[in-house]
Amino acid sequence: MKKNNTHFWETKQLHELSHDEWEALCDGCGLCCLHKLQDEEDDSAPVLMTRVVCHCYDINAGQCSDYANRHTTVPGCTALTVSRAAEFDWLPTTCAYRLRHHNLPLPSWHPLITGAKESVRPYSLHALNPVLETPDIDLEDYLIKVHS
Ligand code: SF4
Ligand code: SF4
Repeated sequence: MKKNNTHFWETKQLHELSHDEWEALCDGCGLCCLHKLQDEEDDSAPVLMTRVVCHCYDINAGQCSDYANRHTTVPGCTALTVSRAAEFDWLPTTCAYRLRHHNLPLPSWHPLITGAKESVRPYSLHALNPVLETPDIDLEDYLIKVHS
């Protein structure tokens, strides 16, 4: 039976998405661009979130300033590909890729559902008063409490 692609985010598995559908799944929250801290010697230690955002992020524009080259500009920028879906639990609990990997629905405020890009804003890094990463910043000064 042919699937109805109108709501592809509900009907398709991650591996079935086209390139454009994959890109559209991102809500643009920017939370994955925030720095995290974890004890380097203890993989089981909790991951602590900060409100320090990658130096490549354009806070005013609300998006990566060099999206096309992000993986070369920032070597630590993780590529989100379907082959790495099993690792998606490092992403925020609201991340559409993480949710769909677990066959969970998108939140009601997701732009694919509302039709408005701005509907993500209260759930994005903008709500966390982000600061831009600088070479001398101490991440421990910017720890925040969010679910991860
Ligand atoms: S956390 Fe997920 S939905 Fe949000 S910007 Fe990153 S990839 Fe997109
Ligand atoms: S390079 Fe761009 S997409 Fe990657 S973490 Fe930095 S701001 Fe985010």
